Amino acid sequence: MQPCILCLPITIPSEVKLGLALTPFVVSATSELTGLASVCCVNLTGLRYEGMRVRDVSNRFDRFQKLMARIGFPITHYWADNNPHHFERLQLYCKTLVNAGMLQPRSATTLICNCGAVEVVEEAINSDWSMDHKVMDIREGQPFCKLCNTQLRETRRECLFLDTHFSGNPLVAIPGFYQREIDTLQESFNQPLLVSRQRKIGYELRLFDRTWQLDTDFCWSILFCSLIENGFEPKAVVVSNRSLKPLVWAYGVSRKLCPDLAQVTAVVTPYVQFETGDPARPIGSLAQLLDRYGRTPVRLLMASSLKWNKKEVVAESSLIFWALKGLARYLVAVPSKEKTSFSLQKTIGLTDGHGVDKLISDLRKLNRVELSPYHNLLLEKGSSNE
Ligand SMILES: [Zn+2]
Repeated sequence: MQPCILCLPITIPSEVKLGLALTPFVVSATSELTGLASVCCVNLTGLRYEGMRVRDVSNRFDRFQKLMARIGFPITHYWADNNPHHFERLQLYCKTLVNAGMLQPRSATTLICNCGAVEVVEEAINSDWSMDHKVMDIREGQPFCKLCNTQLRETRRECLFLDTHFSGNPLVAIPGFYQREIDTLQESFNQPLLVSRQRKIGYELRLFDRTWQLDTDFCWSILFCSLIENGFEPKAVVVSNRSLKPLVWAYGVSRKLCPDLAQVTAVVTPYVQFETGDPARPIGSLAQLLDRYGRTPVRLLMASSLKWNKKEVVAESSLIFWALKGLARYLVAVPSKEKTSFSLQKTIGLTDGHGVDKLISDLRKLNRVELSPYHNLLLEKGSSNE
């Protein structure tokens, strides 16, 4: 088994922005410094792809992989939720959960909108655990769907529920100040989770002598078990501080199926917004920035945004110009000869954005700048294989 660091599945939009590429960037950089394999997970089923042809979805995935290669973020393995192996496993996992009494049908009242994007259990309407809260809105006390703008209406029918009581708090947070929030989430996640859906999207499954339409978020939640079957041992997950719930949930569901799933470290990034400093001018997509400036200044901008001691960061694209000025004096940089691989904790300290800002200003001012192994990586200097 190959120990790995991964990111939770990314839904790939038609245009990839810097913020979206940030978690795969941390996965890739951390992998290079720690020696863990890098696994980038992607969602290729679900609402975002509705109405798209299969070929167009796979083209979009190809373009994403090429973009990651172009900016120089090597990834050992891509895991996709539309892989046929994944679906085969999903069927087995569901049967295991049924046999253990954790996945059960029962009649329940659900609230559903016209387009079917929102479907929640009435008893859990105010619970902020439902992933549908992304697209749900409460207007004057009434729940609405943000996508189709209709008020949710009640229906009563047979639904599949997953019992979600998770025991223990095995997730460890870096930076440590997220630990309490993660522990609280792990302890509070104990309500039945609606796994079946009425909307015909994603996977269907036969259980209890009938066909069920499965919730697309549930379908990727067994990700950790699926990776173990692919030969990877999940050691760490890179996640934005806005995505702690999906992490706790997916890890909890996976632990029900794989009791051997070891302790995992959550590497929690700040929530980063990339701006130009001028609201009238958007920053552009990752591909546009690469076309305009080349990859090193864009890598430095992303690296600068990782201020691990902050929860929210606004990164301004003006840094690209300072980076270009610094890089014009590229020869003053002396690559590190250090070849050690670092612990995860040490690596996160090494990759702090404040250090990247200092690197850029040192390159502009000094006649000799000693690079750290991380700076070697960012500037693609003196690779450790030499
Ligand atoms: Zn709707």
